[in-house]
Amino acid sequence: MKRVDIKLGFQCNNRCRFCVQGNKREKYSDKTTKQIKEILRKTCKKYDGVVFTGGEPTIRKDLPELVQYAKDLGFKVIQIQTNGRMFAYKDFCQALIKKGANEFALALHGHTAYLHDSLTTVPGSFEQTTTGIKNLKSLGQRILMNTVITKPNYKYLPQIAKLLVNLGVNQFQFAFVHINQMILSSPKLIDEIVPQKSRVMPYVKKGLQIGIDAGVSVMTEAIPYCFMKDYEDYIAEKIIPEGAVYDATWSIEDYGKYRKTEGKAKGPDCPKCKHYRVCEGPWKEYPQIFGWQEFKPVKS
Ligand code: SF4
Repeated sequence: MKRVDIKLGFQCNNRCRFCVQGNKREKYSDKTTKQIKEILRKTCKKYDGVVFTGGEPTIRKDLPELVQYAKDLGFKVIQIQTNGRMFAYKDFCQALIKKGANEFALALHGHTAYLHDSLTTVPGSFEQTTTGIKNLKSLGQRILMNTVITKPNYKYLPQIAKLLVNLGVNQFQFAFVHINQMILSSPKLIDEIVPQKSRVMPYVKKGLQIGIDAGVSVMTEAIPYCFMKDYEDYIAEKIIPEGAVYDATWSIEDYGKYRKTEGKAKGPDCPKCKHYRVCEGPWKEYPQIFGWQEFKPVKS
């Protein structure tokens, strides 16, 4: 399946401390309804799926109208990528489903309100997001979860996995925090938010295993092969649908290619690695902080 991701705008009702899009909030205004419909018309012949993302798409009043528009244009998969808080309102879930939304990608960053809310910086967000998962589940929807791996939560990934399994989600992913310029320029934020990959891995694998044992589809993002011994099949980059991204004022026609050529990087020893050709490497900001010592080429 090929899909188009449309960032509707960067406003959000959460203020996640690690948000990779957060520094765009003040710089760029939201797309208008007309602009979004134009993108949908332009892309509907080429792509089977559309992802409405942001920022937080559910805080826009026109989201139901946009979902209906995408459905009428023939998009088969209409995914809402969201912090999930608005889905605590069952009538909101029902309204979007009625218009044609059929895949829901929510984010949960802790197994307790204390941990999740301290990362989103919004008290009550854990309660709303978990209620949202339960509501969507009760309405028979496909639920894909994302957890951003950060310093405060990495030791709790197995507990987060258990919670997600118990909530009955269809898939969960652990995505290593994507360091933006705002984080990169703040030694304090780096110290508080960004863990070292080698430290998080035992917890990542334990969490993945909990999902695998329960028959849930699991994956990781932005963790190269050299950290994923025995779990190589769960590397998201192998299966992320191809497609385009409509960002703030620009678009990226082939996001996979962008990741490989601009977003990510490989180290001086990577050419010796047996995964060199398929591996994308880490997001390029990570080695700017920690160097390449942790990335040990895998021998054939
Ligand atoms: S190519 Fe480099 S980053 Fe990728 S798995 Fe090998 S050593 Fe790790």
